[in-house]
Amino acid sequence: MTDRLYLHDCYIQEFDAEIIDVTDFPNNSVILTQTVFFPESGGQPGDQGTFYAGNTAYEVKDTKQAKENIIHLLNNTIGLEKGTKIHGKLDWNLRYQYMKAHTAQHVISRYFQIELNAETVSTQIRQNQSRLDFHPIDKMSELELQEINIEINKIFSQNLPVCINFLPREKAIAFLQSKKYQTKYLEMVPKSVIDFRIVEVEGYDWAACGGTHVRNTSEIGFVKFIEMKNKGKNKERLIYSFINK
Ligand SMILES: [Zn+2]
Repeated sequence: MTDRLYLHDCYIQEFDAEIIDVTDFPNNSVILTQTVFFPESGGQPGDQGTFYAGNTAYEVKDTKQAKENIIHLLNNTIGLEKGTKIHGKLDWNLRYQYMKAHTAQHVISRYFQIELNAETVSTQIRQNQSRLDFHPIDKMSELELQEINIEINKIFSQNLPVCINFLPREKAIAFLQSKKYQTKYLEMVPKSVIDFRIVEVEGYDWAACGGTHVRNTSEIGFVKFIEMKNKGKNKERLIYSFINK
């Protein structure tokens, strides 16, 4: 079972570990005792970076989840075996962009829930442009959308701390329901999860989430809404990116 260091601290960029297994399913993969690499899930892509074993560097092309283990997909596994010591280094620029986009998504989702009574039905976090699908929502004008964009950026500029806490399942569910967190997402957490990881944007949003986040909304800077388009019955897709600081 891989120890997931990012769950407690999303800012660790380098780590040491030992190989538990080298596998060809999928090709050129390794499983480690612990990792800071986030595996693709919940709309956030798997991390990329570099592993070092002695003097040899390996490219980590993707990270995926396989039950309780995390699989790192490498360019090759020549010279690697069970017990090999690894020093791992994240592609931090990429990961930090995901962190900003993911925390931004939590705030945008909450804003749409509170102000427009719209549920987020799916999300996709990407380096440049991320997106959220809402349901139901009335068609809105360009001007209305711009006004919402301004309000969202005002929330980021309040410099709200983002905290990660763990609560036992039943307590967490009761707590999140009291905060009006979308029940559908609570039901999606596998029954095997005993402790819920709760990501709080202080005083604004509370969510059950295993993803990586910034420590303060000020780190997000500003988002720019690119467009809102209809994606079938009662579903609108919002695409957003960042304004470079
Ligand atoms: Zn999340």
